[in-house]
Amino acid sequence: MDEVMKRLEKFVKERNWEKYHTPKNLAISIAIESAELMEHFQWNDISFEGIKKDNRKKREVEDEIADVMIYCLLFSIILKRY
Ligand SMILES: [Mg+2]
Repeated sequence: MDEVMKRLEKFVKERNWEKYHTPKNLAISIAIESAELMEHFQWNDISFEGIKKDNRKKREVEDEIADVMIYCLLFSIILKRY
């Protein structure tokens, strides 16, 4: 986990994105990415097996989970500094 957090910090620093990472922006980003994850299950009742059988769906769901986790990690990393 430390390695992932270090790589994430480096990624952000290289792009000079730190200025955008306020508590409000990060909290909103977590909610937005969570909504993107939920969109995959709106109007259907797909099972884990169903997701796994559909490669495109599986990749899209994994991407949204990663987006949520990235913003949660960023929030945690920055909060830990203060
Ligand atoms: Mg996303």
